Amino acid sequence: MSSHPTETVPVTGQHRITEAQSRPVRPKDRFLVFGAPKFEQPEIDEVIACMQSGWIGTGPRTAQFEKAMSDYVGGGHAIAVNSCTAALHLSMLGAGLKPGDEVITTPLTFCATVNAIIHADGAPVLADVDPQTMNINPARIAEKITPRTRAIIPVHFAGRACDMDAIVALAKQHNLLLIEDCAHAIETEYHGRKAGTFGDFGCFSFYVTKNVVTGEGGMILTPHEADAARLKRLALHGMSKDAWHRFGDSGYKHYAVLDAGFKYNMMDLQASIGLHQLARVEANWQRRRAIWQRYDQAFANLPIVTPVPPQPDTRHAYHLYTILVEQERCGISRDQFVDGMTAHHIGVGVHYLSIPEHPFYQQHYHVRPTDYPHAMHIGRQTVSLPLTPALSDDDVRDVIAAVTQLLSS
Ligand SMILES: *Cc1c(COP(=O)(O)O)cnc(C)c1O
Repeated sequence: MSSHPTETVPVTGQHRITEAQSRPVRPKDRFLVFGAPKFEQPEIDEVIACMQSGWIGTGPRTAQFEKAMSDYVGGGHAIAVNSCTAALHLSMLGAGLKPGDEVITTPLTFCATVNAIIHADGAPVLADVDPQTMNINPARIAEKITPRTRAIIPVHFAGRACDMDAIVALAKQHNLLLIEDCAHAIETEYHGRKAGTFGDFGCFSFYVTKNVVTGEGGMILTPHEADAARLKRLALHGMSKDAWHRFGDSGYKHYAVLDAGFKYNMMDLQASIGLHQLARVEANWQRRRAIWQRYDQAFANLPIVTPVPPQPDTRHAYHLYTILVEQERCGISRDQFVDGMTAHHIGVGVHYLSIPEHPFYQQHYHVRPTDYPHAMHIGRQTVSLPLTPALSDDDVRDVIAAVTQLLSS
C-alpha cells in the first residue's frame, strides 16, 4: 500500500483489494472534475470582442442568444436570465399563483424546482417517479390533483423526455399550467417536438455542468407574447426599458417602474459564450452519446443498474449517465463507491437525493422519503459518471477502469 492514504482506494467491508487494484487509475494531479465544460476558440474570441466593445451588460449579444435559442427550439418568445432557477421563479410568477395554490412536481429533482414554487407562494406537491425512466409518473400526478392544483412542473430527468402525451392530457383535462424544467434537456425531443415547447413555459439552464454553458445562465421559452413581455420586465427590476434601450446607441430614454421586479437579467458577456456553445450543441451531443454507448457496453456485465434505452420516438439529451449501486448486488454501498471513485481521482455526482430527504421540506411540508419510494431508492443508490464533451478517450477509459475495478474486486 502507498504511504499516502489519499493515494489508495479504501478497502471495503467484504472486499480484499490487492495492491495492484489499490493503485488509483489516475494520478492525483489529473483529478477528473465532474461536469467540466468544453470551451473553444470562438467563444473565447467572442468574450474578448464583447469586452472590447465596451458593452458587457444585457444588450445586443443577449438578444442574439435569445433569437438563437428560439430558433433552435423552434419558435416561441425567449427571455434570457441569469439562471434556470430565475427562469423557474419567473415562470411560477407568470402562473399567477394565489397563496396555497398547489403545484405538482417530481421528488427526483434539484431543490431549485421546488423552491421556485415556494417563492411564488405555491405549495409544492410531489408525485413519485417511474423506477425505470426516473421521470415523474403521470399516474402518480393524477392521484395528486385537487381543486387547488394550478400547475405541473415535469423535469426531463438526465435528458430523458417525460411522458408528455399523458402529462399534456392531464393539464388540459384539469386546466393546469404546464412548466417544463428543461435544465437537462436542451436537445430532448418527444414525438418529434422539442422539450420546452409543450406547455406555457420551458426553463433552460446554462450552468457550468449543463449541455450548453454560459457559467451562470438560463432561458425561458413561452408561446405567450404578453407573458414574455411581463417576465422580461420582472427579470430587470420591473423597468419598462432595459439598459441597452436607455444607454444604447439610440440615446438616453426615461424608464418607468411597472412591477417590483428582480435582478435576473443575462449579461452579453454570458451570451457571448452561449452563442458559440449553442452553435456546437449537436457536435457535443454526439460526443456524449458516443461516451454513453461506450459506458453501456463496458458495464453490461457489472452488477450495477445502467440507464434504460431511450423511449421510442424520443431523443435523449444524454445529460447524466446515472448508474445505481445497490449494496446487495454490488457488495459495496453507493457512498463507498463514490469514495472509491474519488480515491481513483475521478469526480462523480449524485442526482439527486430525493427532495423529502432534506430537512427543510420535511419540516415545512411534512414529506417523508418513504412516501416516494422510487425516488428514495434512486436517490440513495444513484451515482452520475462523468459525461461531457471535454472528456478524452483516455478519460473515458479511466472512468471505465475505475468503475470495473471497484465492482469486480
Ligand atoms: C441545474 C438545475 C436547475 C437550476 O439551474 P441553474 O441554472 O443552476 O439555476 C434546475 N432544475 C434542474 C433539474 C437542474 O438540474
